[in-house]
Amino acid sequence: MAGKRGLIMGVANQRSIAWGVAEACAEAGAELAFTFQGEALEKRVRPLAASLGSEIVLPCDVSDSDSIDAVFREVDAKWGRLDFLLHAIAYSDKTELTGRYVDTSAANFALSMNISCYSFTAIAQRAEKLMTDGGAMLTLTYYGAEKVMPHYNVMGVAKAALEASVRYMAMDLGPRNIRVNALSAGPMKTLAASGIGDFRYILKWNELNSPLRRNVSQEDVGKAGFYLLSDLSSGVTGECHHVDCGYHVVGMKAEDAPDI
Ligand code: NAD
Repeated sequence: MAGKRGLIMGVANQRSIAWGVAEACAEAGAELAFTFQGEALEKRVRPLAASLGSEIVLPCDVSDSDSIDAVFREVDAKWGRLDFLLHAIAYSDKTELTGRYVDTSAANFALSMNISCYSFTAIAQRAEKLMTDGGAMLTLTYYGAEKVMPHYNVMGVAKAALEASVRYMAMDLGPRNIRVNALSAGPMKTLAASGIGDFRYILKWNELNSPLRRNVSQEDVGKAGFYLLSDLSSGVTGECHHVDCGYHVVGMKAEDAPDI
């Protein structure tokens, strides 16, 4: 990735999925810019960005279009072009990430959709203009988009819309040699995941029932993110790539069957 420039959106701390992907891209020689959401996270993101030699570290709240515009103005002024983009951003009111989906409020439905789904489209609109020599865009999703997972609720609906938006944007941007993909990560202990009810149980379930009999590591996801953002995946677009130790292929595990 030497000579490539990428914008990483969604690092909150060193446990963030975005950080794992950033480290893998930096190790391969990419130059990176970072955004952070608010002052509290700035304190965490600045030192991390500095550790990879990044000189562009900007505030961005994706619910504010002026804030998104400001990021892309700055990236344009400093770099003049962009080769890849990582969107690792999601939000929902955590009081609705427990209990039943059917009880979701209209306000939190709109908020979750805006931040967890539309923001990728909003960012892609700006990034497209800077990807003058082709490019790669990647977002993060979860199996709760495809199947019902406990307490994932409105976030599952938002991720399903996000995955559909990946396919539409792949078609729209393909003629400009811009690829758009999603990485569906298995459950990982991060700040965002701590808001999901019974998350430790979900982690344990995945560990016991996935083909690899373990949970994914930040490195697993980082390396796959690097693949999807680099030329290694030059023929791949519109894809939702699972990095979940194989959990999504399992219907039922045989070895636990009781005698009946
Ligand atoms: P994280 O808490 O480290 O990252 C979430 C990021 O979203 C944070 O950096 C936060 O600042 C950002 N964000 C939220 N609202 C924002 C806003 N209005 N403006 C700008 N940024 C905002 O957690 P993570 O698990 O690394 O999450 C990254 C992505 O991975 C999310 O899309 C999440 O849904 C997805 N994902 C997580 C898991 C998991 O188990 N942790 C599994 C699959 C997919």
